[in-house]
Amino acid sequence: MADPLFETVALIGIGLIGSSLARIIRRENLAKTIVVSTRRPETLARARELELGDDYVGDAAEAVANADLVIASVPVGASESVARKIADRLKPGAIVTDVGSTKASVIQQMAPHLPSAVHFIPGHPIAGTEHSGPDAGFADLFEGRWCVLTPLPGTDETALAKLTRFWERCGSRVDTMDPEHHDMVLAIVSHLPHIIAYNIVGTADDLEAVTKSEVIKYSASGFRDFTRLAASDPIMWRDVCLHNRDAILEMLARFSEDLSALQRAIRWGDGEKLFDLFTRTRAVRRSIIEAGQEVDAPDFGRHVIAHPPKPEKA
Ligand code: NAP
Repeated sequence: MADPLFETVALIGIGLIGSSLARIIRRENLAKTIVVSTRRPETLARARELELGDDYVGDAAEAVANADLVIASVPVGASESVARKIADRLKPGAIVTDVGSTKASVIQQMAPHLPSAVHFIPGHPIAGTEHSGPDAGFADLFEGRWCVLTPLPGTDETALAKLTRFWERCGSRVDTMDPEHHDMVLAIVSHLPHIIAYNIVGTADDLEAVTKSEVIKYSASGFRDFTRLAASDPIMWRDVCLHNRDAILEMLARFSEDLSALQRAIRWGDGEKLFDLFTRTRAVRRSIIEAGQEVDAPDFGRHVIAHPPKPEKA
């Protein structure tokens, strides 16, 4: 087992991402001591029951006092309040990072409050599920996934190399990127798909001509795959929408234009256009499988439910 990279890591927030980090830090011996801090006493108690850390501290400021690495894993809208709370107690030379799904906004919220004696290196592991809370995490979450770091100009190279090493030992591949570019890329690959999923599931839920029981009964024909995304944490996704507004609006505008073109092709019976688009998109999926970011099993690699439970009578 390789030596620990850090003496003490403080995890601020212990939901899906924070608790996955706790599990992998423990398994890979990435730090000697894990200090867990979270806002609500009941979440802290659950983290203790799950034995996710060594110390459990309600007060975030107290939690970071001895830490060489501080990782904030909270909804992006809570970044400023976390930075304000911990700023005065951070150890000089500590690395402070986060896992938020938007980067420019997190930097705006946190950077002004953090002392110059710490290394603030924002990050975003491109790995997740639709589940949340400390029970949802698992040590393999980051395995084979990308983690994007968005260092600020003048970032200390040694600190950046150490954080890169940390994510690599979590199983990730690491890229660095400009925060605005990160936000644009994530708007199309993650934020827009979630917004489309929330929208389509909402539309189906509002329909009157099709009953709710029919939507659920026949969901395997496509709808079900949107419902997984649309089951994601409402607070996290509210914050992503509010904190990556410009990039999301830009991508939504392009999406709407393309949707209008698709609508037109359907209206005018332009089968060639439809066939060309559907062929191009099939190739995109193949590239994702070849890049190791998806499995090639039918039905998205899901296990088939041999005897699904009988639905209740509507
Ligand atoms: P989660 O499972 O819902 O956990 C959120 C954690 O943040 C909990 O410990 C919660 O504490 C705490 N928290 C919530 N609101 C807070 C507030 N206002 N102030 C301080 N702490 C607060 O969320 P998650 O999925 O781990 O997401 C955490 C971060 O990772 C988000 O920024 C998200 O954008 C990013 N991310 C998520 C995914 C994903 O797929 N889920 C993937 C990559 C990155 P209490 O329970 O004590 O209230």
